[in-house]
Amino acid sequence: MQFRISKKSKKSNARIGFLETENGVVETPCLVTVATQAVVKTLTSDEVEKAKSQMLICNTFHLHLKPGERIIEKSEGLHKFMNWKKPLMTDSAGFQVFSLGFGRDYGMGKILKTGSEKEVKEGSQPSRIKITEDGVFFKSPVDGAELFIGPKESIKIQEKLGANIIFNFDECTSPIADYEYTKKSLEKTHKWAKVCLKAKKSDQALFGIVQGGKFKDLRQKSAKFIGNLDFDGFGIGGEFGDDKKTMTNMIKWVLDELPERKPRHLLGIGYLEDMEKIIKAGVDTFDCTVPTHYARHGIAFTSQGKLDLNKAQFLTNRDPLDKDCLCFVCQNYKKNYICHLLKAKEITALKLLTFHNLYYFNTFVEKIGNDIKNGKI
Ligand SMILES: [Zn+2]
Repeated sequence: MQFRISKKSKKSNARIGFLETENGVVETPCLVTVATQAVVKTLTSDEVEKAKSQMLICNTFHLHLKPGERIIEKSEGLHKFMNWKKPLMTDSAGFQVFSLGFGRDYGMGKILKTGSEKEVKEGSQPSRIKITEDGVFFKSPVDGAELFIGPKESIKIQEKLGANIIFNFDECTSPIADYEYTKKSLEKTHKWAKVCLKAKKSDQALFGIVQGGKFKDLRQKSAKFIGNLDFDGFGIGGEFGDDKKTMTNMIKWVLDELPERKPRHLLGIGYLEDMEKIIKAGVDTFDCTVPTHYARHGIAFTSQGKLDLNKAQFLTNRDPLDKDCLCFVCQNYKKNYICHLLKAKEITALKLLTFHNLYYFNTFVEKIGNDIKNGKI
């Protein structure tokens, strides 16, 4: 993989880049579409391409459990298995394995929504997984089998899956981890980063993940350490503080320390309102389930804001989802029809909404890219 930066903004840290892979070129900034189980839910790979997605990210943890990497390896890798010809990423499985731990114990994701008094202290072990110096023991959520994933195992699985870009195995700390816990965890993540680099035998691009929780000195330390290793690019992982402002600061702390000429990927964040900020901070690619997830709940993103197509008022509305959208859904279908399909529980509703949302998000990022090219941001 090669990464070429063609333009740097004079007004911010935003940049235009080209990620060149064996499966084609990705122009950045780029929203990477989430294809957890080797599919963008409700769409065919062909439709995903028509919705302007340039790259997908599949989930190593889920594919390891079902169908297992051997099945995919025997199909000559993920590209052939899912009939996706463009570039692909797989994550490291770190986030999902650790979500089974403290995440489940305390019921939380990447951003802590409510003020919590609970804290994960140094030496704590989550109830459902066992974290050791070499990796994590956990029970398969599919059949309860005892499983183990460490840095070597993660790389081996990802090599069999065969994506263009893979990620190093890290401990994704919980938003309520205290300073001492996060510091110790970071030592493990850094040790595992070196193990991953050594374990990789394929010519896939390997991205190192920066952790460090909400603590500025740990984030900077991690970015310096990971940034100095021979990775092809970097991921910013883990939790992003208590609010969106902390998130932006955290991204800045990290990006200031990372080498400029390599690509940077933000893992698991990408609300529409965050995108310009993230890109201005210097992030090249990011992945997020928002467009597809909301679609399956009947929500369309439009220039007029979010629309809940489940509402009966849309049964009499003969406008497209968005008058300015050029996607095939907006060119051919009206709100009343999609509202009817939702009420009739017809799965085509979810497909139409997923296609539109994906196209809308991809176009949104494309416009930000044009603003960088035109010197607006
Ligand atoms: Zn549309």
